[in-house]
Amino acid sequence: MTVAQALAAAQARGLDRLDAQLLLGHLLGQPRAWLIAHDGDVLPAETAAAYDALCARRAGGEPLAYLVGVREFHGLPLQVSPAVLVPRPDTETLVEWALELLAGELADCTEPQLVDLGTGSGAIALAVKHRHPAAAVSAVDLSEAALAVAQGNAGRLGLAVDFHAGTWFAPLAGRRFDLVLSNPPYIAEADPHLAALQHEPALALTPGGDGLDAIRAIVAEARAHLRPGGWLLLEHGWDQAEAVAALLRAAGFDAVGTRRDLAGQPRCTGGRSPG
Ligand code: GLN
Repeated sequence: MTVAQALAAAQARGLDRLDAQLLLGHLLGQPRAWLIAHDGDVLPAETAAAYDALCARRAGGEPLAYLVGVREFHGLPLQVSPAVLVPRPDTETLVEWALELLAGELADCTEPQLVDLGTGSGAIALAVKHRHPAAAVSAVDLSEAALAVAQGNAGRLGLAVDFHAGTWFAPLAGRRFDLVLSNPPYIAEADPHLAALQHEPALALTPGGDGLDAIRAIVAEARAHLRPGGWLLLEHGWDQAEAVAALLRAAGFDAVGTRRDLAGQPRCTGGRSPG
């Protein structure tokens, strides 16, 4: 079987052309441009068999990122495994907002203190540290397996982040931050969308119930862990902005606002702690 035949077979079983190319390039250790230049090359039998197996997994709904082990987020190559949510471009909205605050309202902090709650692969913490190296960045996750992935990413990227195991603010007793960021689980238990995400960790996707319990828990503790003028920024579902804004206002936050993601959905809501 040639490169071109293998790609055609993958598309015939329903894979996108791009996914078919990325999986074969991953197995061969070659970029997509190489595949195009070598489309008549015959694949070794074991490569063809391994490709067939990967294509079957992709056709069964496993995220491409788990099959190739890497996903780019905010320009950083992050290693991922089924222990962590695959980083989404939507979450870059949260990173951009944090970077704007660090360059604006929080610019007077020489070493701003920042924490990413439920860090998963480390995406948010690492992206902010990469773009704003002066920040002292902490990251928390309940899952030891996720923390191992995040620590691996921090080490490979040479980004210093202080990792803690535990539930939300629990490992941060007595600490106050300038910026608290989180992409917590927020999908409602009954949301039919969850079925399509069955390969990702349920812990990262849904807190059960109406999907807002993790956000409620974070909002309830946040002001005790923010310096006066510090900000809490939360990612949430497309239909949760008003509920999250109401929770922030009820907890006494000022300047409550919402940002839209690249698809135009209200995706992040945040506010400033009056202290
Ligand atoms: N954005 C993800 C999705 O809907 C969910 C992430 C999350 O629950 N934090 O696919």
